[in-house]
Amino acid sequence: MKNTITNGRKVIPYEMLLKTLSSTRELVERILPVNGIPSLKLGLEYLEPVIKSYIKKAREGLPIIGYHFSFPAEYLQCFDCVPVCIEGTSYFLAALLKGGIENYYDAMHSWGHPFHTCSSQRGTMGMTLDGLFKFDAIITPTAPCDCTIASYPFFKYKKLFPMVMLDLPYLHAPKSYDYYADQLKLGLEELGKIIGQKPDFNKLKKAIEIENHVNQLKLEIFDLIKGIPSPIENIFNAVSAGALIFISGTPESLAFYKKMLEITKQRYSKKLHHGIPEKFRSIWPYMITFFSIDLLEWLDRKLGLSVLFDIFNYNFTEPINTKSDLDTMFLGMAKKGMHLPMVRQSTEFFDPFIEYCVDFARQFSADCFIYTQSIACKQFGSVPQLLREALKEELGIPMLLIEFDAGDARMTSLNTFKEKISLFMETLS
Ligand code: SF4
Repeated sequence: MKNTITNGRKVIPYEMLLKTLSSTRELVERILPVNGIPSLKLGLEYLEPVIKSYIKKAREGLPIIGYHFSFPAEYLQCFDCVPVCIEGTSYFLAALLKGGIENYYDAMHSWGHPFHTCSSQRGTMGMTLDGLFKFDAIITPTAPCDCTIASYPFFKYKKLFPMVMLDLPYLHAPKSYDYYADQLKLGLEELGKIIGQKPDFNKLKKAIEIENHVNQLKLEIFDLIKGIPSPIENIFNAVSAGALIFISGTPESLAFYKKMLEITKQRYSKKLHHGIPEKFRSIWPYMITFFSIDLLEWLDRKLGLSVLFDIFNYNFTEPINTKSDLDTMFLGMAKKGMHLPMVRQSTEFFDPFIEYCVDFARQFSADCFIYTQSIACKQFGSVPQLLREALKEELGIPMLLIEFDAGDARMTSLNTFKEKISLFMETLS
């Protein structure tokens, strides 16, 4: 990979990401039949130009801002900048690069960062240690987990990147939303001072309005997934996570979900299903295997197991009110920020999580749950057993628990996943 440095600004992993997106798109377009895995084709088609435009902006010398995935990307549209998702970079490179990004995890292990921290951060940390990223600033909430809090100081104290940390409250109460709304406003102002720009709230409003529309389209897709057989292919979950993390607030995000809704409606009305006939329907309340998203396609094609949704695809909020004053808009932004995937689950007690999981199982006619317990998500370590008991008691459906590292195949391999799920499906027959 050519070492591209312009004005001392480095986004080499985004260049790697662009290359892998382009080569995967070419392969998908050449090899797959016209109707094969549309979410993958469309996702690559819309992700690629956005990442390309960010690289162009980096070359032009615009500031590079690293953001935690739990800080919605559209909030950064109030600046003329290059937004770089710390966690998304690790996991999408892990998914798309042959051999993943194990060398960057290992670089951090050698440096002394514990192996049981979140690989979504550890990968980008390793790349930054290697000098592949140079951020002008980083913004993150103090959420959703200890791993975030324990990992981000690396960027601040080892790499000396200016850091804006937004204090995100634990309780979901009106006063928490007010407090976090202030944090967001102050944080964006502070970030603006670091990069020498004033936040443009009109641009922010436009990006939020796009996402309000996207949210509505996603909700319609979500509702159609109740149909039997499921009208989405499993891999939609991974692609939709990518769209959420990388391109939210852009016209490309809107175009992707408009097309996906059309396809989903057609499949729903004709009862069409991707892969072999649907045998069982599963809900993955936490993460999919980012180190090998082809598992999702294998489940569709070999086992007939639908993955109805994962954690990145079931969290919805009310549209943000952009028509009133700025304070109202920030309040809406705060509510959305506190209901994002993993933040919502980590900033509440576990009982609402159990309740809506049971409710999802009913509404979506799920035959089972598959709970992937990441070695990193310690805050959730005790929940799977409680969920398993609740699903058994309330609905009589089983839950398979698989411990893994979402971005590192060396902990639980793809083959082990396949074996465990195949055996589990025999118990459902
Ligand atoms: S909640 Fe878990 S997966 Fe999400 S960032 Fe934290 S440790 Fe990583």
